[in-house]
Amino acid sequence: MTIATVNQPHDDESGAHADVVVVGSLNMDLVVRAPRHPQPGETLTGHALVTTPGGKGANQAVALARLGASTAMIGCVGDDAHGHALLAGLDQEGILRQGMRLTSTRPTGVAMIQVDDASQNCIVVIPGSNAELLPADVERGDALLRSAKLLVCQLEVPLETVRHALDRARRHGCTTLLNAAPAMALPNDVLARVDWLVVNETEAAALSGQAVTHPDEAAQAAQRLRRQGCRRVLVTLGAQGVVAACDDSLHHYPAPAVTAMDTTAAGDTFVGGFAAALAREAGVETAIREGQAAAAIAVTRAGAQSSIPHRDELVTP
Ligand code: ADP
Repeated sequence: MTIATVNQPHDDESGAHADVVVVGSLNMDLVVRAPRHPQPGETLTGHALVTTPGGKGANQAVALARLGASTAMIGCVGDDAHGHALLAGLDQEGILRQGMRLTSTRPTGVAMIQVDDASQNCIVVIPGSNAELLPADVERGDALLRSAKLLVCQLEVPLETVRHALDRARRHGCTTLLNAAPAMALPNDVLARVDWLVVNETEAAALSGQAVTHPDEAAQAAQRLRRQGCRRVLVTLGAQGVVAACDDSLHHYPAPAVTAMDTTAAGDTFVGGFAAALAREAGVETAIREGQAAAAIAVTRAGAQSSIPHRDELVTP
């Protein structure tokens, strides 16, 4: 396996510091718009192809950076045009990339997103280089974790890497946040390493084993997840807002009323806004309100990273 390091390997001498470290995925999203979805075996002429940076890890890193947190990313991209474009995108957002690795053994992750005229989408994700993000990459980024306040992870990279990152962060006294997306069951030893678990309805249902469609069910699921080992749980419910289970208290925070036109990256924007506020040592309620305010703007705009607002755009109650 040939592994090329981007910039300097991460060590004390690099002097890099960020308040928040994201360990996660980066994809190039290939968005094809067509009048309708083709039948199996059919060839259709579409309207347009847009190539745009994505992946939950990168989206959340961008949200963190735009919403005011100094942010570093630990991830893996292919040594190809998509990979280099994604690295340039991190630079543009001011996200530190000493923890990034280029690989020549797998192509950069891609998401093929097909959208029809009724805005229904079909998505195929090819993890590519994201599947090659290993515990060793977390080790290389250890100096970043040692000086960070908060680690943010998702589940689009191997679970052993997430577990290792959670472990290292906790050992360094760094708070851990897991956005357990996409939905999957998780072993209790992973949940026990999580200070803040953020899940949407589908993810809460997959982890708790019960249906989650409204705030009461979200509260039950959140309490069950706390019993499984997570310290604090936030369940996001789209336009119904957020249910938070923290320190034996349960609260429901309704979402700001807006006219949503594209909810892509709503969850990623919420996580970024919430985590950026936590990194500033804001209280829980302020952090939830800021996450919601940012996500409420994102759903009024098209696209993923293109919809994520900057901090000066936020209006919080
Ligand atoms: P995901 O994108 O992970 O499925 P959600 O759909 O639960 O996540 O949305 C995350 C957060 O984004 C919600 O808790 C809410 O604050 C905000 N949000 C999502 N949809 C809307 C909406 N239609 N109106 C206002 N806020 C929304």
